Amino acid sequence: MDLDVDSVRTARTRADLALAPGERFLAGGTFLYSEPLPPGVTGLVDLLGLGWEPWTIDGGGLRVSATCTVEEVRAGLGALGARSGPYRGLGIAQPCADALLLSFKVAHTATVGGNLSLALPAGAMVSLFAALGASVLVWAPGGGARVESLTSFVTGPGETTLADGEVLREVRVPASALGARTAFRKIALTPLGRSSAVVTGLRAEETARLVLTASVPRPVPLEVAPGDHAALDRALDAVTEWFDDPHGAPDWRAAVTRGLAHEVLEELA
Ligand SMILES: Cc1cc2nc3c(=O)[nH]c(=O)nc-3n(C[C@H](O)[C@H](O)[C@H](O)COP(=O)(O)OP(=O)(O)OC[C@H]3O[C@@H](n4cnc5c(N)ncnc54)[C@H](O)[C@@H]3O)c2cc1C
Repeated sequence: MDLDVDSVRTARTRADLALAPGERFLAGGTFLYSEPLPPGVTGLVDLLGLGWEPWTIDGGGLRVSATCTVEEVRAGLGALGARSGPYRGLGIAQPCADALLLSFKVAHTATVGGNLSLALPAGAMVSLFAALGASVLVWAPGGGARVESLTSFVTGPGETTLADGEVLREVRVPASALGARTAFRKIALTPLGRSSAVVTGLRAEETARLVLTASVPRPVPLEVAPGDHAALDRALDAVTEWFDDPHGAPDWRAAVTRGLAHEVLEELA
Protein backbone atom coordinates (compact mmCIF):
# COMPACT_ATOMS: atom_id res chain seq x y z
CA MET A 1 0.00 0.00 0.00
CA ASP A 2 1.41 3.39 -0.98
CA LEU A 3 -0.31 6.27 0.81
CA ASP A 4 2.23 8.82 -0.23
CA VAL A 5 -0.16 11.68 -0.97
CA ASP A 6 -0.32 15.21 0.35
CA SER A 7 -4.08 15.29 0.89
CA VAL A 8 -7.25 13.21 1.05
CA ARG A 9 -10.43 15.26 1.06
CA THR A 10 -13.98 13.98 1.28
CA ALA A 11 -16.47 15.17 -1.33
CA ARG A 12 -19.86 16.10 0.17
CA THR A 13 -21.41 17.96 -2.77
CA ARG A 14 -21.00 17.97 -6.51
CA ALA A 15 -18.99 21.18 -6.27
CA ASP A 16 -16.39 19.27 -4.22
CA LEU A 17 -15.74 17.05 -7.24
CA ALA A 18 -13.76 19.74 -9.03
CA LEU A 19 -10.26 18.26 -9.06
CA ALA A 20 -7.20 20.36 -8.25
CA PRO A 21 -4.01 19.55 -10.19
CA GLY A 22 -2.66 16.15 -9.06
CA GLU A 23 -5.94 14.97 -7.52
CA ARG A 24 -7.69 11.73 -8.39
CA PHE A 25 -11.01 10.19 -7.32
CA LEU A 26 -11.01 7.56 -4.60
CA ALA A 27 -13.89 5.11 -4.18
CA GLY A 28 -13.35 1.85 -2.26
CA GLY A 29 -9.59 2.17 -2.73
CA THR A 30 -9.19 -1.58 -3.25
CA PHE A 31 -7.25 -1.00 -6.44
CA LEU A 32 -5.77 2.42 -5.72
CA TYR A 33 -4.27 1.23 -2.44
CA SER A 34 -3.12 -2.10 -3.84
CA GLU A 35 -0.25 -0.66 -5.83
CA PRO A 36 1.88 2.48 -5.95
CA LEU A 37 -0.09 5.52 -7.00
CA PRO A 38 0.67 6.70 -10.53
CA PRO A 39 3.34 9.38 -10.79
CA GLY A 40 1.96 12.86 -10.34
CA VAL A 41 -0.95 11.86 -8.10
CA THR A 42 -0.61 14.00 -5.00
CA GLY A 43 -4.16 14.01 -3.61
CA LEU A 44 -7.31 11.92 -3.42
CA VAL A 45 -10.97 12.99 -3.41
CA ASP A 46 -13.12 10.47 -1.57
CA LEU A 47 -16.47 9.87 -3.30
CA LEU A 48 -17.99 7.94 -0.41
CA GLY A 49 -18.84 11.15 1.47
CA LEU A 50 -21.43 12.02 -1.18
CA GLY A 51 -23.87 9.67 0.53
CA TRP A 52 -25.47 8.35 -2.63
CA GLU A 53 -28.22 5.74 -2.21
CA PRO A 54 -26.64 2.43 -3.37
CA TRP A 55 -29.49 1.57 -5.73
CA THR A 56 -33.12 2.42 -6.46
CA ILE A 57 -35.80 0.78 -8.59
CA ASP A 58 -38.87 2.47 -9.99
CA GLY A 59 -40.97 2.29 -13.15
CA GLY A 60 -38.09 3.69 -15.17
CA GLY A 61 -35.77 0.84 -14.21
CA LEU A 62 -32.82 0.33 -11.88
CA ARG A 63 -30.27 2.98 -10.98
CA VAL A 64 -27.08 1.87 -9.27
CA SER A 65 -24.84 4.56 -7.81
CA ALA A 66 -21.15 4.38 -8.60
CA THR A 67 -20.47 4.10 -4.87
CA CYS A 68 -22.66 0.98 -4.47
CA THR A 69 -20.39 -1.81 -3.27
CA VAL A 70 -19.96 -5.20 -4.92
CA GLU A 71 -21.42 -6.73 -1.75
CA GLU A 72 -24.53 -4.53 -2.03
CA VAL A 73 -24.91 -5.81 -5.59
CA ARG A 74 -24.46 -9.41 -4.47
CA ALA A 75 -26.71 -9.28 -1.42
CA GLY A 76 -29.27 -6.64 -2.44
CA LEU A 77 -29.75 -7.02 -6.18
CA GLY A 78 -28.82 -10.70 -6.02
CA ALA A 79 -31.61 -11.34 -3.51
CA LEU A 80 -34.16 -9.62 -5.75
CA GLY A 81 -33.01 -11.69 -8.72
CA ALA A 82 -33.08 -14.96 -6.79
CA ARG A 83 -36.88 -15.02 -6.96
CA SER A 84 -38.80 -15.56 -10.17
CA GLY A 85 -40.86 -12.48 -10.84
CA PRO A 86 -40.41 -8.90 -11.93
CA TYR A 87 -36.68 -8.83 -11.12
CA ARG A 88 -35.57 -12.23 -12.39
CA GLY A 89 -33.13 -10.50 -14.79
CA LEU A 90 -31.06 -9.70 -11.70
CA GLY A 91 -30.46 -13.41 -11.23
CA ILE A 92 -26.99 -12.85 -12.71
CA ALA A 93 -26.10 -10.24 -10.05
CA GLN A 94 -24.86 -12.77 -7.53
CA PRO A 95 -22.74 -14.93 -9.86
CA CYS A 96 -21.22 -11.80 -11.39
CA ALA A 97 -20.34 -10.40 -7.95
CA ASP A 98 -18.95 -13.79 -6.94
CA ALA A 99 -16.87 -13.90 -10.15
CA LEU A 100 -14.68 -11.19 -8.65
CA LEU A 101 -13.51 -13.62 -5.95
CA LEU A 102 -12.89 -10.76 -3.56
CA SER A 103 -12.20 -11.32 0.10
CA PHE A 104 -14.98 -10.41 2.55
CA LYS A 105 -13.25 -7.13 3.31
CA VAL A 106 -12.56 -6.16 -0.30
CA ALA A 107 -16.06 -7.10 -1.50
CA HIS A 108 -17.60 -4.84 1.15
CA THR A 109 -15.39 -1.98 0.00
CA ALA A 110 -14.96 -2.31 -3.77
CA THR A 111 -17.51 -0.23 -5.67
CA VAL A 112 -19.37 -0.62 -8.93
CA GLY A 113 -17.99 2.71 -10.15
CA GLY A 114 -14.43 1.70 -9.32
CA ASN A 115 -14.85 -1.59 -11.14
CA LEU A 116 -16.29 0.04 -14.26
CA SER A 117 -13.79 2.92 -14.26
CA LEU A 118 -10.91 0.49 -13.84
CA ALA A 119 -12.17 -1.35 -16.92
CA LEU A 120 -10.20 -4.54 -16.39
CA PRO A 121 -11.23 -7.28 -18.84
CA ALA A 122 -12.29 -9.38 -15.82
CA GLY A 123 -14.41 -6.55 -14.48
CA ALA A 124 -17.47 -8.53 -13.52
CA MET A 125 -19.63 -5.45 -12.95
CA VAL A 126 -19.10 -4.86 -16.68
CA SER A 127 -20.24 -8.44 -17.38
CA LEU A 128 -23.37 -7.85 -15.29
CA PHE A 129 -24.48 -4.44 -16.41
CA ALA A 130 -23.53 -4.81 -20.08
CA ALA A 131 -25.75 -7.89 -20.31
CA LEU A 132 -28.59 -5.88 -18.76
CA GLY A 133 -28.20 -3.28 -21.52
CA ALA A 134 -27.12 -0.61 -19.06
CA SER A 135 -25.98 2.89 -19.77
CA VAL A 136 -23.81 5.07 -17.56
CA LEU A 137 -24.38 8.63 -16.39
CA VAL A 138 -21.14 10.59 -16.36
CA TRP A 139 -20.83 13.97 -14.64
CA ALA A 140 -18.54 16.42 -16.38
CA PRO A 141 -16.49 18.93 -14.44
CA GLY A 142 -18.28 22.27 -14.44
CA GLY A 143 -21.81 20.88 -14.29
CA GLY A 144 -22.60 19.03 -17.53
CA ALA A 145 -23.52 15.37 -17.86
CA ARG A 146 -23.67 12.70 -20.52
CA VAL A 147 -25.19 9.25 -20.87
CA GLU A 148 -23.66 6.49 -22.95
CA SER A 149 -23.98 2.74 -23.24
CA LEU A 150 -21.71 0.75 -20.96
CA THR A 151 -20.33 -1.27 -23.85
CA SER A 152 -19.04 1.90 -25.52
CA PHE A 153 -17.86 3.40 -22.18
CA VAL A 154 -15.25 0.64 -21.77
CA THR A 155 -12.84 0.98 -24.67
CA GLY A 156 -9.98 -1.36 -23.71
CA PRO A 157 -8.03 -2.89 -20.83
CA GLY A 158 -7.93 -0.10 -18.25
CA GLU A 159 -9.44 2.36 -20.72
CA THR A 160 -12.76 4.16 -20.73
CA THR A 161 -14.22 7.26 -22.32
CA LEU A 162 -13.87 9.12 -18.98
CA ALA A 163 -12.10 12.41 -19.60
CA ASP A 164 -10.02 14.18 -16.96
CA GLY A 165 -12.18 15.24 -14.06
CA GLU A 166 -15.27 13.30 -15.16
CA VAL A 167 -17.08 11.23 -12.54
CA LEU A 168 -19.07 8.10 -13.16
CA ARG A 169 -22.27 8.93 -11.24
CA GLU A 170 -24.55 5.94 -11.84
CA VAL A 171 -25.45 2.93 -13.94
CA ARG A 172 -28.94 2.79 -15.43
CA VAL A 173 -30.65 -0.49 -16.28
CA PRO A 174 -33.81 -0.26 -18.38
CA ALA A 175 -37.01 -1.59 -16.79
CA SER A 176 -37.43 -4.08 -19.65
CA ALA A 177 -34.23 -5.90 -18.62
CA LEU A 178 -35.30 -6.45 -15.02
CA GLY A 179 -37.94 -9.04 -15.84
CA ALA A 180 -36.04 -10.69 -18.70
CA ARG A 181 -34.39 -14.09 -18.55
CA THR A 182 -30.63 -13.85 -18.09
CA ALA A 183 -27.76 -16.34 -18.00
CA PHE A 184 -24.16 -16.46 -16.79
CA ARG A 185 -21.16 -18.69 -17.52
CA LYS A 186 -17.58 -18.32 -16.37
CA ILE A 187 -14.33 -20.23 -16.62
CA ALA A 188 -11.00 -19.66 -14.88
CA LEU A 189 -7.72 -21.55 -14.95
CA THR A 190 -8.11 -22.53 -11.31
CA PRO A 191 -11.21 -22.80 -9.10
CA LEU A 192 -10.29 -19.60 -7.24
CA GLY A 193 -8.54 -17.89 -10.15
CA ARG A 194 -9.42 -14.65 -11.86
CA SER A 195 -11.98 -15.07 -14.66
CA SER A 196 -10.47 -16.13 -17.99
CA ALA A 197 -13.77 -15.93 -19.88
CA VAL A 198 -17.22 -14.77 -18.87
CA VAL A 199 -20.34 -14.85 -21.03
CA THR A 200 -23.51 -13.18 -19.82
CA GLY A 201 -26.76 -12.97 -21.73
CA LEU A 202 -30.29 -11.65 -21.74
CA ARG A 203 -33.30 -12.88 -23.67
CA ALA A 204 -35.25 -10.01 -25.22
CA GLU A 205 -38.47 -10.67 -27.14
CA GLU A 206 -36.93 -11.33 -30.55
CA THR A 207 -33.24 -11.67 -29.76
CA ALA A 208 -30.73 -13.16 -27.38
CA ARG A 209 -28.12 -10.60 -26.40
CA LEU A 210 -24.80 -12.06 -25.27
CA VAL A 211 -21.83 -10.15 -23.87
CA LEU A 212 -18.29 -11.54 -23.86
CA THR A 213 -15.96 -10.28 -21.14
CA ALA A 214 -12.68 -11.36 -19.51
CA SER A 215 -11.53 -13.19 -22.66
CA VAL A 216 -11.59 -10.04 -24.79
CA PRO A 217 -9.93 -6.64 -24.25
CA ARG A 218 -13.27 -4.82 -24.06
CA PRO A 219 -16.85 -6.08 -23.76
CA VAL A 220 -18.13 -7.59 -26.99
CA PRO A 221 -21.92 -7.57 -27.38
CA LEU A 222 -23.44 -10.12 -29.78
CA GLU A 223 -27.09 -10.28 -30.84
CA VAL A 224 -28.56 -13.37 -32.47
CA ALA A 225 -32.00 -14.90 -32.84
CA PRO A 226 -32.84 -17.17 -29.88
CA GLY A 227 -31.61 -20.69 -30.57
CA ASP A 228 -29.70 -19.76 -33.73
CA HIS A 229 -26.39 -21.44 -32.94
CA ALA A 230 -25.12 -21.11 -36.51
CA ALA A 231 -25.56 -17.34 -36.31
CA LEU A 232 -23.73 -17.33 -32.99
CA ASP A 233 -20.82 -19.20 -34.58
CA ARG A 234 -20.67 -16.62 -37.36
CA ALA A 235 -20.73 -13.78 -34.82
CA LEU A 236 -17.92 -15.43 -32.84
CA ASP A 237 -15.89 -16.01 -36.01
CA ALA A 238 -15.94 -12.24 -36.50
CA VAL A 239 -14.29 -11.64 -33.10
CA THR A 240 -10.59 -11.28 -33.89
CA GLU A 241 -9.08 -9.86 -30.69
CA TRP A 242 -8.71 -12.21 -27.71
CA PHE A 243 -7.11 -11.06 -24.48
CA ASP A 244 -3.66 -12.37 -23.58
CA ASP A 245 -2.48 -12.40 -19.96
CA PRO A 246 -1.43 -14.99 -17.35
CA HIS A 247 -5.08 -16.00 -16.93
CA GLY A 248 -5.26 -17.64 -20.36
CA ALA A 249 -3.80 -17.76 -23.85
CA PRO A 250 -5.84 -16.10 -26.60
CA ASP A 251 -6.55 -19.28 -28.63
CA TRP A 252 -7.70 -21.14 -25.50
CA ARG A 253 -9.86 -18.21 -24.49
CA ALA A 254 -11.45 -18.11 -27.94
CA ALA A 255 -12.25 -21.81 -27.73
CA VAL A 256 -13.71 -21.80 -24.22
CA THR A 257 -15.66 -18.61 -24.86
CA ARG A 258 -17.35 -20.29 -27.82
CA GLY A 259 -18.43 -23.19 -25.62
CA LEU A 260 -19.75 -20.89 -22.89
CA ALA A 261 -21.58 -18.70 -25.41
CA HIS A 262 -23.42 -21.71 -26.86
CA GLU A 263 -24.43 -22.76 -23.35
CA VAL A 264 -25.81 -19.29 -22.64
CA LEU A 265 -27.71 -19.25 -25.94
CA GLU A 266 -29.14 -22.67 -25.12
CA GLU A 267 -30.27 -21.49 -21.71
CA LEU A 268 -31.96 -18.45 -23.24
CA ALA A 269 -33.76 -20.45 -25.97
C1 LIG B 1 -7.95 -9.38 -4.02
C2 LIG B 1 -8.43 -8.53 -5.17
C3 LIG B 1 -9.04 -9.15 -6.26
C4 LIG B 1 -9.52 -8.38 -7.34
N1 LIG B 1 -10.14 -9.02 -8.37
C5 LIG B 1 -10.59 -8.29 -9.41
C6 LIG B 1 -11.23 -8.93 -10.51
O1 LIG B 1 -11.36 -10.15 -10.57
N2 LIG B 1 -11.70 -8.15 -11.52
C7 LIG B 1 -11.59 -6.78 -11.48
O2 LIG B 1 -12.05 -6.11 -12.40
N3 LIG B 1 -10.95 -6.17 -10.47
C8 LIG B 1 -10.45 -6.87 -9.44
N4 LIG B 1 -9.80 -6.23 -8.42
C9 LIG B 1 -9.52 -4.79 -8.59
C10 LIG B 1 -10.48 -3.82 -7.84
O3 LIG B 1 -10.45 -4.12 -6.46
C11 LIG B 1 -11.94 -3.87 -8.32
O4 LIG B 1 -11.99 -3.63 -9.71
C12 LIG B 1 -12.83 -2.87 -7.58
O5 LIG B 1 -14.17 -3.00 -8.00
C13 LIG B 1 -12.39 -1.41 -7.75
O6 LIG B 1 -13.31 -0.61 -7.04
P1 LIG B 1 -12.85 0.45 -5.94
O7 LIG B 1 -14.08 1.13 -5.49
O8 LIG B 1 -12.03 -0.16 -4.87
O9 LIG B 1 -11.95 1.43 -6.84
P2 LIG B 1 -10.72 2.38 -6.39
O10 LIG B 1 -9.52 1.57 -6.09
O11 LIG B 1 -11.16 3.37 -5.38
O12 LIG B 1 -10.52 3.17 -7.79
C14 LIG B 1 -10.14 2.48 -8.98
C15 LIG B 1 -9.99 3.51 -10.11
O13 LIG B 1 -11.26 4.00 -10.52
C16 LIG B 1 -11.34 5.43 -10.36
N5 LIG B 1 -12.71 5.67 -9.91
C17 LIG B 1 -13.35 5.04 -8.88
N6 LIG B 1 -14.64 5.44 -8.83
C18 LIG B 1 -14.81 6.35 -9.84
C19 LIG B 1 -15.94 7.11 -10.29
N7 LIG B 1 -17.17 7.00 -9.73
N8 LIG B 1 -15.77 7.94 -11.34
C20 LIG B 1 -14.56 8.05 -11.95
N9 LIG B 1 -13.46 7.35 -11.57
C21 LIG B 1 -13.59 6.51 -10.52
C22 LIG B 1 -10.26 5.80 -9.36
O14 LIG B 1 -9.79 7.10 -9.54
C23 LIG B 1 -9.19 4.75 -9.71
O15 LIG B 1 -8.46 5.18 -10.83
C24 LIG B 1 -9.34 -6.97 -7.32
C25 LIG B 1 -8.71 -6.35 -6.23
C26 LIG B 1 -8.27 -7.12 -5.17
C27 LIG B 1 -7.58 -6.42 -4.02
